[in-house]
Amino acid sequence: MTFTCIQCGICCMYMGDYIEIEREIAPFEYIGRSVATGTLFDAKVDEDKREIFLERTWSCKHPRACPFLRPRGGKVVCTIHGTSPAQCKAYRCVVMRIFSPEGDLVGKVTGALALDTGDSILRAAWEKITAGTRLDGPDEEERIRDRLEARGYRIT
Ligand code: SF4
Ligand code: SF4
Repeated sequence: MTFTCIQCGICCMYMGDYIEIEREIAPFEYIGRSVATGTLFDAKVDEDKREIFLERTWSCKHPRACPFLRPRGGKVVCTIHGTSPAQCKAYRCVVMRIFSPEGDLVGKVTGALALDTGDSILRAAWEKITAGTRLDGPDEEERIRDRLEARGYRIT
């Protein structure tokens, strides 16, 4: 399944502790900092988002949000999409939704292949499937999907 970001902005709502603006270097151009790694990156506000970037009311109301996040229409968008850090581009919040054989949603899997579930049977199956494997392996996502489907789960 191809991951489709619906631009809900939830993943960036608490990124203010992790993405900072170091300084402005030109109109709409900044040096940003990924706090966890100490890495600096060039951030340029996308041309079609400059107007919303200048509007700071929403940011003031959400001080923990990434400083580059802004609402637009019914969505919340990254205003530096073209130059956002690599970890932002690679992020996928949910890559699998897991349904039981009865059709109930019993778990979700993040892009980092972390299972989010309160279902003990699924948890036990997951631990068996992933025991002793590197979750960052190249075909791991497909392998897990196949194994879950073999146990009767439906994955979307
Ligand atoms: S990656 Fe997921 S949480 Fe983040 S904006 Fe897209 S859909 Fe929302
Ligand atoms: S730079 Fe963009 S994608 Fe990355 S946390 Fe900020 S708003 Fe989200």
